[in-house]
Amino acid sequence: MTTTSGAPGGVTEAEWSAAAEAVRGLAPGPAGDEVQLICHVNPDGDALGSMLGFALALRKQGITNLRATFAGDFELPTPYQDLPGTDLLVPEQEAFHDPALVMTFDVAAESRLGDLVRLLAAPCVVVLDHHASNTRFGHVNLVAPRAAATSVVVDALLGRLGIPLDREMAECLYVALATDTGSFKFDMTTPEVHELAARLIATGISPGDISRRIFDTRPFGAMKLAGEVLERATLDRSAAAGRGMVWTYATQADLARHDQRPYILDTLIDPVRSVAEADVAVVIKETVQGDWSVSLRSKGAVDVSRVAVALGGGGHRLAAGFTGHGTPQEVAATVMAHLDANLI
Ligand code: 5GP
Ligand code: MN
Repeated sequence: MTTTSGAPGGVTEAEWSAAAEAVRGLAPGPAGDEVQLICHVNPDGDALGSMLGFALALRKQGITNLRATFAGDFELPTPYQDLPGTDLLVPEQEAFHDPALVMTFDVAAESRLGDLVRLLAAPCVVVLDHHASNTRFGHVNLVAPRAAATSVVVDALLGRLGIPLDREMAECLYVALATDTGSFKFDMTTPEVHELAARLIATGISPGDISRRIFDTRPFGAMKLAGEVLERATLDRSAAAGRGMVWTYATQADLARHDQRPYILDTLIDPVRSVAEADVAVVIKETVQGDWSVSLRSKGAVDVSRVAVALGGGGHRLAAGFTGHGTPQEVAATVMAHLDANLI
């Protein structure tokens, strides 16, 4: 496979050049070609940051007939509400009906597009992603499974297009990179990741301010809620052939009692996965009654992406998720039943 030097692996030269051509061929201006950018439902820092970073780059190139969106409730987690480029975001109902180009960011599968899946009928769909489980649903698929974040793929495409980073684009891409590397702690934090971070910081962004705003600020009620959810965690040392699994859950009623929004639960996987006695960590979050968004993490003994795929979801080897049904105890038992078959 031919790859572009400096670009993340797993993408052919033909794909890089097809993606660049799709962008270069766009008619600019307010009456120019319609471009619809989409990230995944319940967007996280990588989904929003990589999408908005690229949106700002397009706008700077004069591609201004441009909208960015995601399926589901049009609500951003508070930490992301001030990201540069949020003025380009529209609710899914206001997405273009017949755009010339659709680009997706951090979307591993069609199911993560919700109702926006209809836009895959566009004449050109370019997928930018880093999930090994990506189903390659675009005409052009820039899927780099070893890239730490989708923002790495965005940066490579910007390089290919000759678009220099500015401070606003860099802030978006930095949020994306810091989110998906767990603030530069995870295994895929390569020299290339730090090199990209260095180029982003060199634009003048403030990593301290950004990290405080995105990762280290939460409402009092969220802290109290976290206390309750962690208090009810269960450790099963015999799970995963003795490697252990720790799990907990949070209900809609928990959120309501503390007057908190669902995204607040997404960081709870971090204290849970720090438990020394368990390789696998699971947080089971109620979305609607009886439906649960399940976060899975492993320290290396289990391929949780295979567990998630077996249960209808997807993700990465050590970080994955799926939608569960029943009681939280039933969901935990289902996960446990799939661990032994997916030991690494
Ligand atoms: P998180 O636990 O942070 O929500 O998700 C961890 C990883 O699993 C992310 O890379 C995310 O894209 C993936 N993931 C989480 N839930 C789902 C799901 O329901 N379907 C798929 N395909 N991937 C998921
Ligand atoms: Mn990502």
